[in-house]
Amino acid sequence: MFGAARRITALTGAGVSTASGIPDFRGPNGVWTRDPRAARLSDIDSYLADEDVRVHAWRARAENPAWHAEPNAAHQAFVDLDAAGRLGAVLTQNIDELHQRAGLARDRVLELHGTMRRTVCVHCGGTGAMTDALRRVAEGEQDPDCRACGGILKSATVYFGQALDPDVLREARRASLDCDLFLAAGTSLTVHPAAAFVELAAKAGAKLVICNAEPTPYDEIADAVLRGPLDEVLPDLARAPVVELGERLRTWG
Ligand code: NAD
Repeated sequence: MFGAARRITALTGAGVSTASGIPDFRGPNGVWTRDPRAARLSDIDSYLADEDVRVHAWRARAENPAWHAEPNAAHQAFVDLDAAGRLGAVLTQNIDELHQRAGLARDRVLELHGTMRRTVCVHCGGTGAMTDALRRVAEGEQDPDCRACGGILKSATVYFGQALDPDVLREARRASLDCDLFLAAGTSLTVHPAAAFVELAAKAGAKLVICNAEPTPYDEIADAVLRGPLDEVLPDLARAPVVELGERLRTWG
């Protein structure tokens, strides 16, 4: 039973934040579902080679609805699990910091793919606030460079073709091995290595619960698959031990 889990490690994805008004990438209304070319903006080789891609990316960053988004009931559910002493860590693929804004302590959240709220220079590695760079864009710069060395600036997120932070990866691995239940929520589980933590935890003996609106490649090995809106499913899970593990598929709403 979910309620019996005492140490939960969660892997979250863009689906946790759609109820906050931030579209996911691969869901029915996802950014890439609607415009497959948008994926180029997150490809490091295209970004470095092509100024047009960077100009487009800066515009997209400025318009990202995440700047005005508030955490929703799905984010709050993790805060509640933590307050009940049942949460080990949240490994998130999200870059919007809404888990932290909901009130989860920074050391509970492992940002596998970085954060959209910082910039990093690809040459000197210097970091800064994204709001500072976006102010320069608003003032007319199309592709703001690093103030320190003149290098190309990007958001402090992991692009396709870039490696994940080894320290974050190590911590995520540890948290996946050290849990009695692994909860994957709002992720298509198609991005690696993030998705591999599901298998790692399950092989180490953790129960596996997958909550997602659509099927994932790991549904077959899950102890329970819950299909429904996460801002309803996750609060229900955090509140009451309603889900029997072994119940293969439960649909909400
Ligand atoms: P994804 O777009 O591949 O998958 C999201 C999944 O969530 C889909 O299968 C969809 O059916 C499901 N979903 C969407 N809304 C839901 C809801 N309300 N209830 C239940 N399920 C819902 O996302 P991913 O697996 O996280 O991978 C995409 C990559 O995109 C990540 O690397 C992430 O960094 C990035 N991303 C982040 C954000 C963000 O920070 N909010 C938004 C878009 C993309």
